[in-house]
Amino acid sequence: MELLSPSSSVAINVDVVGGSSTGMKQSQSMVLKSKSATVSSACLERKEVDDTKALVAELCRHFYTLGWVLGTGGSVTIKVHDESVPRSHQIIVMSPSGVQKERMAPEEMFVMSSDGFILSLPPLKPYPYPPPKCTDCAPLFMEVYEMCNAGAVIHSHGMEACLVTMINPFSKEFRITHMEMIKGIQGHGYHDELVVPIIENTALEGELKESLTDTIRAYPKTTAVLVRNHGVFIWGDSWISAKTQAECYHYLFNAAIKLHQLGLNWSSPNHGPNHAFNGGWGCGNISRALDCMIDPSKYRRTSSIYI
Ligand SMILES: [Zn+2]
Repeated sequence: MELLSPSSSVAINVDVVGGSSTGMKQSQSMVLKSKSATVSSACLERKEVDDTKALVAELCRHFYTLGWVLGTGGSVTIKVHDESVPRSHQIIVMSPSGVQKERMAPEEMFVMSSDGFILSLPPLKPYPYPPPKCTDCAPLFMEVYEMCNAGAVIHSHGMEACLVTMINPFSKEFRITHMEMIKGIQGHGYHDELVVPIIENTALEGELKESLTDTIRAYPKTTAVLVRNHGVFIWGDSWISAKTQAECYHYLFNAAIKLHQLGLNWSSPNHGPNHAFNGGWGCGNISRALDCMIDPSKYRRTSSIYI
């Protein structure tokens, strides 16, 4: 689309399905609302917009090093802070789809209105770069913004977020307690039980929308939803809150996986041996070995195996 002169304030009705000034055709899922968006073009040229684009690019590069956004997967979105505008009406920066996250640059970001219209597209790049396309998570991000009044959302494909949903393939929740890092999750203390809902994966990212919204409605205080065999969506009032919580969530997922490997129960306060899993996934011998370390007299040794 073409923006008008910088000082003009205009009603911008962006028909992304019908194409844009770049000739790019966006998918139907990009049309999130049918109303037109009223945004000043001067508003899009504010320093805060450029700063937020640079921040999203920087976070993508950082999250790549953590393994959260490998293979162009995962995505990040942040609202452009403006004291004079309620958060629900602030404009939005979103990372693109199909771009190597470790090479992400500020000019590759999409800018969107608070009601889901694309206001600014990245420039077209020559072969072998694909045409610019906004993240497939856009409809999901918009739901989180609207339902949770979030200031930023992170979608991670971190392996720990994926694996923790596989330990019990029928579980609808991940629960953990008595871990220091729980204090990093909004509204939680050390003694609290953290509950993260799990939804089932779908073939296409956009198809998660219904189960994501149903789950947020069922867990109104949650700041994360796990997607089985896929990853996790995490949000906060600001990018700092979203990033801090994302680090704590990933730590806790990792801890749960390691406790499980050790045959220990991550969801009980004392994290004792998890006899329910005894014999599964290598827990038996490790659990016994740990018990033996506590009280060796309980066990006799034959060859190299504790029995
Ligand atoms: Zn994903």
